[in-house]
Amino acid sequence: MIHISNLFYHKQPLQLAKKIGALSFRGRTFFCNSGAEANEAALKFCRYYGHQIAPDKKTIITLERSFHGRTLGALSMTGQTKYQEGFSPIVPGIVHIPANNIEALEQAMSSQVCGIILEPVIAEGGVYPLSPEFARKARELCDLHKALLIFDEVQTGIGRTGTYFGYQHFNVEPDGITLAKALANGLPIGALHVSEKWQDVWSPGKHASTFGGNLLISAVAEQVLSLLEEELIPQVQEIGDYFKTRLQTLSRLYPDIIQEIRGIGLILAVQFKLPVPEIHRLLLDNGFITNLIGDSILRLTPPLIINREQIDMFVDFLNDFCAKQFYK
Ligand SMILES: *Cc1c(COP(=O)(O)O)cnc(C)c1O
Repeated sequence: MIHISNLFYHKQPLQLAKKIGALSFRGRTFFCNSGAEANEAALKFCRYYGHQIAPDKKTIITLERSFHGRTLGALSMTGQTKYQEGFSPIVPGIVHIPANNIEALEQAMSSQVCGIILEPVIAEGGVYPLSPEFARKARELCDLHKALLIFDEVQTGIGRTGTYFGYQHFNVEPDGITLAKALANGLPIGALHVSEKWQDVWSPGKHASTFGGNLLISAVAEQVLSLLEEELIPQVQEIGDYFKTRLQTLSRLYPDIIQEIRGIGLILAVQFKLPVPEIHRLLLDNGFITNLIGDSILRLTPPLIINREQIDMFVDFLNDFCAKQFYK
C-alpha cells in the first residue's frame, strides 16, 4: 500500500512527523509534495493565525534575494522580481527587507505582521547566511508583536549546513519550519512543521493535500532522517569545514580574482571579483555540477557523501582556472 485517503491516520506519516519533531521541536506536521507547497502552507498558516487575533494582522515579512518557490503565494514571498515578472498581480501584503539589516526589520515590524519567513542561508539567491543576531532579533520582535517566525528549510534542512536544520546554528526556537528537497532523498515530499504551541490553530480540513506524505514517501523520509542521525551529520560538519578551508586558502592565493567564500556546511559559494560567465560550462565539461548565480557567484551544494579526494579535484581545478585568469 503506497497511499490511503487522508481521511485516515496511518502510522507511517505519524512516525515521520514524530521524527521531524524529535530532531527539531515538538509540534504538528502537515505533509505536501514540494517546497513551494510547504511555503504556501506556511503563508496560509500565518494568515489564518493573524486573522484569529485581528482582521488587519496579515502582513508577511520575507527577505530580498530570497527564494520560496513558484506557486503564486510562494512566488509572492520570493524576494526577486525577475521571477514575478509577467505574473502580476501577485499576492498582496508581503514586505521584503534586506537580510541581516536589523534596522529594516525593526521598521517593517508592527502589530499587523502575522509572520516572518526566512531562509537560514539565502540559498538560490547567492548563499548569504543569516547572522545569529538578525535571527534572534526576528525572534524577539515576533514575540513582542505576536507574529510567527518560520524558517524555510527547504534547501538548508536535512543536514545541508551540518546541523539537522539551518536554524539550529542560531540558538533560536522557531514557530515553524518548511521542508522538502532532500527530505525523501529524491521522492516528492514537502512539510510544514509547527510548534505544539500552535497545534490548535488549524482544525482538520483547514488545509489538505491528497498525496502529501503518502505511506511510501513517509517511509523513505523516515529512513533518510535515520541515516542523517546515524552517519551523515558529523560527516557534513567535518567535510564542510575541510571544503571551506581549502576554498579560503585559494581565495587568499588569488585576492584579485576571488572576493570571498561564503556559506556553512555543504552549502558554499565562491564570490568572484570579476564576471566568470564561462566557469559554469567549463566545470560541467569536466564533470562538476555547480550553479552560477548572476555571473560571479558559484554556488556549491554537493551530495552530503562527497569525500576529500573529490573536493581536492574540484579545488585543484578551480586553482588552475584562477591561475589562467591571472595570466590572461
Ligand atoms: C527549491 C526551494 C523552494 C521550492 O521548492 P520546490 O520543491 O521546487 O517547490 C523553496 N524554498 C527554497 C529555499 C528552495 O531552495
